Amino acid sequence: MTETSYGARDGSSILLGIGRGPLDKDDAAESRRDQDFEAPQARTMGAGTTGLASVEVEHRDKLAMMRDGTLGSIHSWELVTAVDGPGTRMTVFMAGCPLRCLYCHNPDTFKMKDGEAVTSEVLLNKIRRYRGVFKATGGGLTISGGEVLMQPRFAATILKGAHDMGIHTCIDTSGYLGANCTDEMLDTIDLVLLDVKSGDPETYKKTTGRDLQPTIDFGDRLAARGIEVWARFVLVPGLTDDFDNVEKVADIVSRWPDNVSRVEVLPFHQMGRDKWDALGYAYELEETQPPSPELVERVREQFRSRGFTVK
Ligand code: SF4
Repeated sequence: MTETSYGARDGSSILLGIGRGPLDKDDAAESRRDQDFEAPQARTMGAGTTGLASVEVEHRDKLAMMRDGTLGSIHSWELVTAVDGPGTRMTVFMAGCPLRCLYCHNPDTFKMKDGEAVTSEVLLNKIRRYRGVFKATGGGLTISGGEVLMQPRFAATILKGAHDMGIHTCIDTSGYLGANCTDEMLDTIDLVLLDVKSGDPETYKKTTGRDLQPTIDFGDRLAARGIEVWARFVLVPGLTDDFDNVEKVADIVSRWPDNVSRVEVLPFHQMGRDKWDALGYAYELEETQPPSPELVERVREQFRSRGFTVK
């Protein structure tokens, strides 16, 4: 993941529904109910997996099902507008992430074992119910996390199932596990939200605990296949805001001039701080303030000057 909450921190997103609704209700009624939700002041994340019946299976069977892509570990889902891709989207947050971003607002997705076991059949049935909403709004499905490519086989099953239903599909990823994404899987993805968390390899490592290069490699693959990308960059004062670091992010994104249709600069916020405390993890950005409007504008201009549409 997934900086999706960052995209909504200004309250511009509309959360239509979160992990709710029994599976045996008809599509239209469910869609109406979900649209009764009020827009939140700020989005945190899907509240759970309600409406996605989890399954109890033996450990051995669980592993076999995960291997064949029929069982996944899910943190939550929600129905949103104005984030995670165009239109109204069902965003599914997968559990498990190999990165440890210092600013992560969803540290409760770090471990795959903490998610709920949900079958591909249950999830695809849920997705099917929103086809009308997706069609009416130009929306679709977004798989986020955690890291979607931690569970590539399950993600592949869901993306193909949605794609076969004619639903617009998107993944939100750091690209670190891009090697897990097969060409077949790429054929079922319409849009990638690619988080380029830093341009300087050392800063990337300091920010995420991992290496930058796999993200560049994955971006190159997406460009070669002409898959649309929205590049995302989280602006953290004192961590990622250095002018040269941002220039290096712009250099990386400039490798993909034909398929990057927008760049999103997402200002750091403290919305996830309590989760770090609750989980007993050390939170290093305690004293970090959100960037000033001037700093955000400076960084956005750095991307604009390269010819990108910047949000
Ligand atoms: S640690 Fe994982 S889930 Fe958290 S922001 Fe980084 S990539 Fe996203």
